[in-house]
This record gives sequence, structure tokens and C-alpha cells, in this order.
Amino acid sequence: MLRSLFLAAAGSSRLERLAESVPVSKGIARRFVAGEDDTEALRVSRELADDGLGVTLAHLSADTETAEQAAAVRDGYVAVLGRLRDAGLTPAAEVSAKLSALGLRIDEKTAYENAHAVCAAAAEAGTTVTIDAEDHGTTDATIETVLELRRDFPRTGVALQAHLRRTEGDCRELSAAGSRVRLCKGAYAEPESVAFQSALDVDKSFVRCLNILMSGEGYPMVATHDPRLIAIAEDRARWFDRSTGEYEFQLLYGVRPEEQARLAAGGHTVRVYLPYGDQWYGYLMRRIAERPVGMAKVVTSRK
Ligand code: FAD
Repeated sequence: MLRSLFLAAAGSSRLERLAESVPVSKGIARRFVAGEDDTEALRVSRELADDGLGVTLAHLSADTETAEQAAAVRDGYVAVLGRLRDAGLTPAAEVSAKLSALGLRIDEKTAYENAHAVCAAAAEAGTTVTIDAEDHGTTDATIETVLELRRDFPRTGVALQAHLRRTEGDCRELSAAGSRVRLCKGAYAEPESVAFQSALDVDKSFVRCLNILMSGEGYPMVATHDPRLIAIAEDRARWFDRSTGEYEFQLLYGVRPEEQARLAAGGHTVRVYLPYGDQWYGYLMRRIAERPVGMAKVVTSRK
């Protein structure tokens, strides 16, 4: 009930305008979002890097409908990559990008060309790009685009979602040497025809995918806050004889920070997904919807 309330709030443009008129620094958003601009993103990246954590910076932009908007997203990433390099924050910090923000709704060619420019800027800055996973209608285009990008930038990462029935097969295809794959549960509501619906089935799929990635030759990036799945991943890494630099954990900024610190202290590579930008409202509501009871308490207890 609370979850659907927050998800409905995520889609409300009136609430969005109201919330975004308050600076990130003044509200609950600061727990999950670095800030509204590059300067804030760099400041928080520095803090995380000083704590021994890697970063993947994700720009929160408005829906991209035109080539001009896609080019603006591309230019934003190119600029922030230059600033990360100048600040000495690469390779600790990389970026995550959505192909829809880079123009996938216009056509695949636009998204590919913009993503190519971002990958080129990342390579120039001595770091990498990971392409986020979006709804299942975009999965084929995402994987095809990443395979294409990897011809020039072999370390381009891709996110796969364990809740999709197809993902075990995708993991097999993408577990080749050098292949950086982020495995997450999946954040989009999907129909039963393409996705597991129960939490248990999603978790089982996550473990099957993890087995494929950990036993393969690629570089698994285990993106979850789930204590059981984190423990299983640690276990599988031991089973398959992977040393700590041969896989990484990824968690969202503001979520289970004590677990981020624990994993890093244990010698694991940990990367924090760090969103920034002025279009933070929908992202914040989705985070709250994931843990509505706990977060409602936080929201109401804050001044
Ligand atoms: P959940 O099922 O949400 O939670 C499992 C357990 O984890 C909970 O029972 C609790 O014990 C613990 N937990 C979870 N959240 C909290 C919290 N806030 N505080 C305390 N304990 C908590 N999705 C996509 O669709 N595409 C992407 O590209 C993508 N990229 C991601 C990148 C990263 C780094 C991460 C961490 C997630 C990403 N996601 C992405 C989101 C992901 O798909 C899930 O929606 C989200 O991570 C919640 O799933 P979970 O694995 O944390 O498990």
C-alpha cells in the first residue's frame, strides 16, 4: 500500500515540481543523491574515495525525447569525466548511463553515437562506463549497443536484471574474458511473461546468474543490498577462486552505508552508485518505495 503510494508519487509531475524547488541539501534527498550539479557530485565522490570506496556517477536527467536533449546528456557526462580526471578521481570513479537518456527513444544509432562519445571521454580520463539496464523492451538494444561499444572500449560494463527470465542466457553470453557485468535484481515492473514475479524466484535467479558470472572469465559486479545474496557472492568468489580484485560489490549511495564500510574493510572492492542532477525526485521516490515503512519514519522524523 505505502509502496504503491510512493510509486504513484514518483509519477506525479506536480509533486515533482514542488519537491525540486527545494534544494537537495535541505531535504531527505541528500541521503540518496549527491547534489544537483557536477561540483556536488565531485565533492561526494571525493568523500567516498577517501573512505576507500569506488564510485559510479549517474546523472539524473529529464526524459530524453529529442536529439538536442540526448546531446546535452552526452555533453554533461563528457564534462564531468573531464572534471573527475582533473581532480585525480579516476579510475576510482567511473560513470553509469542510461541509453534512453542518450537517445534510445529516438533511435539506436543516436544512442550508440552518444554512448561512444561518453566512452571515449571515459577512456581519455582513464576510467570506464557502465550502461544501466532499463525496462525489458530495451534489453536487446542495450546488449547489442554494449557489444558494439566494446569493439573500441572493451571495458564497457553492462547491467543485467536477475528478475528477467532471459538473464541466465545473457550472463552466459556475457561471461567472456574482460566482460564487466553488473548483476542486479531489476527495478522495473515487468509482466509475468518475461519476468519472475516472486521475491524468492528473483533471488534464485540471482544466484544462478551469479554462479555463471563467478565461474566465467568476466568481471562480475554484484549490485545488491541483500545480506543473503552478498554472503552467497562472497562464498561463490571463494568457490571459484577469485581474489578480491576479480569482482566487486556495488551498492546505492545512502543504502546500508555500514555494509559498504564492512565490505571495504574486509578487503573487497566496493563501488557506490552515486546519482546527481536536478531531476532527482523520481529516483528518490523509487528508493523510498523500496523500503516504505522505514523511510516514512525517516521522512516524518526529520525537521
Ligand atoms: P531488495 O529485495 O530490495 O532487498 C533485499 C534485502 O536487502 C532487504 O530485505 C534488506 O535486508 C536489505 N535492504 C535493501 N534495501 C535496504 C535499505 N534501504 N536499508 C537496509 N537494508 C536494505 N536496477 C535496474 O533495473 N537497472 C540497473 O541498472 C540497476 N543498477 C543498480 C546499481 C546498483 C549499484 C544497485 C545496488 C542497484 C541497481 N539497480 C538497478 C536496482 C536493483 O535492481 C534493485 O531494484 C535494488 O537494488 C533493490 O534490490 P536489492 O538487491 O537491494 O534487494
